[in-house]
Amino acid sequence: MKTYRIAAIPGDGIGAEVISAGTEVLKAVAKRLDQFELRIDEFDWGGEYYKIHGRMMPEDGREQIRNHDAILFGSAGYPDIPDHITLWGLRLAICQPFDQYANVRPTRVLPGITSPLRNVNDGELDWVIVRENSEGEYAGVGGRVHQGSPLEVATDVAMFTRSGVERIMRFAFKLAQSRPRRLLTVVTKSNAQRHAMVMWDEIANEIAQEFPDVTWDKMLVDAMTTRMVMKPASIDTVVATNLHADILSDLAAAFSGSLGIAPTANLNPERKFPSMFEPIHGSAFDIMGKGIANPIGTFWSGVLLLEHLGEQQAAGRLMDAIERVTADPRYHTPDLGGSARTDEVTAAVIEEIRGANV
Ligand code: NAD
Ligand code: MN
Repeated sequence: MKTYRIAAIPGDGIGAEVISAGTEVLKAVAKRLDQFELRIDEFDWGGEYYKIHGRMMPEDGREQIRNHDAILFGSAGYPDIPDHITLWGLRLAICQPFDQYANVRPTRVLPGITSPLRNVNDGELDWVIVRENSEGEYAGVGGRVHQGSPLEVATDVAMFTRSGVERIMRFAFKLAQSRPRRLLTVVTKSNAQRHAMVMWDEIANEIAQEFPDVTWDKMLVDAMTTRMVMKPASIDTVVATNLHADILSDLAAAFSGSLGIAPTANLNPERKFPSMFEPIHGSAFDIMGKGIANPIGTFWSGVLLLEHLGEQQAAGRLMDAIERVTADPRYHTPDLGGSARTDEVTAAVIEEIRGANV
């Protein structure tokens, strides 16, 4: 039987709670289907590790996970360590060298969950946001001089490369093509940002020629927020820069009922490096250790992980189980207005997996 090696990195805060729930659920699916095995190795990297070793992960950390088939990640963010250290020291330290340039964020309103957006009927909100995940505004280019003096200067330079934009556009068009509506919105800001965003638009137009069966349009990012609220059904697949999609996808997550539901895949589509799957939420300091974190975002990330491994049947089973559980308000955690605990939701999903007809 095929064995996949999964690296689990819970990280900090509720990361530990949701990843332990997520690995349990993944093991339950593998066991139920009995078509493949999962070997899950856990890595204790993050804030606690930093307190002891002065870094978020070991120097050879990436080497330790390089040959795994996929990575399941919790959250980087620790109460008294600055966010730029935890983010760059762990999450981005994996995403960037592993060239996970396509960040894919599906949004749907799952059964039983009420969207805060009025008048969204079943199936009217089914989006996938593709975030450029390797350059742009988060390229890390910039600097800071004369710190603390009145002459202080700081810059963050958004850096866009032709090859970087081409590959994310091609990825997004291909994804849009694979979905029933074959509809793509390219988000831009080429009215105000007149260099890189103009190149972004030009490249979108070039790549579009390769996909004559995909209908696409272009939308300024500010107008896109309005469209997301006013005409959600007009949207299907979306591609945007690192910063723009970061913001739009949090908004999208809110529409799906809670930040705790939204999943992410950080893909290296060429599979030269392992891809990484994670809930989009962070460490949630306000609820950590209470056992009430919503694990659905991690479970759904597990679905994306299984799809990436090519285990479509397992992915489908897990998604079905998730949807049957969200449909029952007894299994809603407090972020969804319920009183269920993480382990109750986890047990319910595992129960659905066990009971499912394979
Ligand atoms: P957050 O996602 O941690 O929390 C925002 C709000 O959403 C909180 O009220 C929280 O309780 C709630 N929430 C989030 N996930 C939830 C879940 N699964 N169930 C129930 N409620 C949930 O964002 P933040 O407060 O801006 O960040 C806290 C820390 O996490 C910071 O250090 C930040 O840098 C880090 N962070 C990390 C990542 C990541 O590693 N991918 C993402 C976002 C934030
Ligand atoms: Mn974000």
